[in-house]
Amino acid sequence: MKNNQDIFRKTRVHLTFMNSFMLIVFLLFFIVGTISVLSYIVYNEQKLELKALTEQELEESYVVEPQGKSGENTPINNQGIYINYFLKKNGDVVVGDEFNPEMRSLILDKVKGWSPEGIQVKYVTFSVGNQQEVHFLIAAKHVLNSGGGTGTLYIGKDVSYLWSMFQWLLAVLLGMLLLFVGIAIGIGQIMTRRAMKPIVHSYQLQREFLADASHELRTPISILKSGLEVMDMGENNQLSSFSSDLLVDLQKEAKSAAKLVDDLMLLARTDSGAQPLFYETFDFYSLAEQVVRSIQNVTPPSQIQLNLLSDRSLHFYGDLERMKQLLYILLNNAVQYTQPGGKVTLDYFLEEESQATKLCITVTDTGIGMEPEHLESIFRRFYRVDKNRSRESGGTGIGLAIAKWIVEAHQGDIEVESTPGVGSTFTIYLPLT
Ligand code: ADP
Repeated sequence: MKNNQDIFRKTRVHLTFMNSFMLIVFLLFFIVGTISVLSYIVYNEQKLELKALTEQELEESYVVEPQGKSGENTPINNQGIYINYFLKKNGDVVVGDEFNPEMRSLILDKVKGWSPEGIQVKYVTFSVGNQQEVHFLIAAKHVLNSGGGTGTLYIGKDVSYLWSMFQWLLAVLLGMLLLFVGIAIGIGQIMTRRAMKPIVHSYQLQREFLADASHELRTPISILKSGLEVMDMGENNQLSSFSSDLLVDLQKEAKSAAKLVDDLMLLARTDSGAQPLFYETFDFYSLAEQVVRSIQNVTPPSQIQLNLLSDRSLHFYGDLERMKQLLYILLNNAVQYTQPGGKVTLDYFLEEESQATKLCITVTDTGIGMEPEHLESIFRRFYRVDKNRSRESGGTGIGLAIAKWIVEAHQGDIEVESTPGVGSTFTIYLPLT
């Protein structure tokens, strides 16, 4: 049992791990995708804005002459601009202005040798003074002024706030990823536990089935084995009277073991869906009559009175052999669980139910009956109300499980009503197709 729990716990953990891993991968893709798209959009927008600012600055301040004397600061009059340089071709600063003068040498270093075609934008990053990293977008444009001098205009924008905004966004998204993964692991555990419930249940049933089957087979086989061990031949190779009696018992046990194996094989085939039904049209009366007669042959009327009530000829479309088996199971049970002097009756008739005609078969006995709490369970494999009594009469607890399968394979229903000490009635409804 502990071993099973281990297997299922491992599978559950494995499934939860796989699900969480997939979720992490998807969320990571989502985060990387979102940040890439956002940063692409923001970068392009900033680039366009900076280009527009540069054009505006050119129009306002550089139409005729760069306003300001060589190397002097010119006040930055546009709110969005953080640096404003006009450099001659040889690198001399004609106009220079920035919010932080410490930056000048650093920025000039970054733009050195940059000769743009049209307006070009560059992203640069560097550390100022106290090592704080700043991020800039710098636009550059070659300018030919009316005085005939040429140079390059550099207009820069501090985008550090956008950089830190993206860093925050990434941190928030990663935090959410951790939270979601935590929730996913928790929910995943519950979901996999639920999803595995039917698997665990059917595994449990299979185990019980195997344990019950081996237990049922062990008894007749050990009886056969010990019986054969003590059987001895008398003089002249004749069986002693003890051995002859024993042989009869052993034959009975061998028969019951063989029947049990047959039943088990049938159930195994029904479980795997490998047991086909062979449909044909047959007369139900002939079948019922034949089964009743064959049971009457081995059950003297003085002991139990077995009657077939209906004599109506009725064409039924189904598996003849399986229907025969169904009647044998129900009638044999009825005879088996009815005391001498009792009555067993088989009847059948047609019943109309919501515009469909059904064949209704009843097997009624005046036998020992069953307490209500057993009625739900008797169709389960190996379930017996009284194990000892059932075993003595050759019962294994499989008959009704097979009966139920036969009925359901014909799209029908089986019901039971029973009163202890009064008797039982099994009713089967089968659609007439
Ligand atoms: P078994 O081989 O033991 O008869 P079944 O699956 O046919 O197995 O029946 C399951 C149990 O249901 C039986 O052991 C018995 O306790 C109970 N049962 C079945 N039919 C009857 C009946 N007609 N009257 C009373 N008990 C019954």
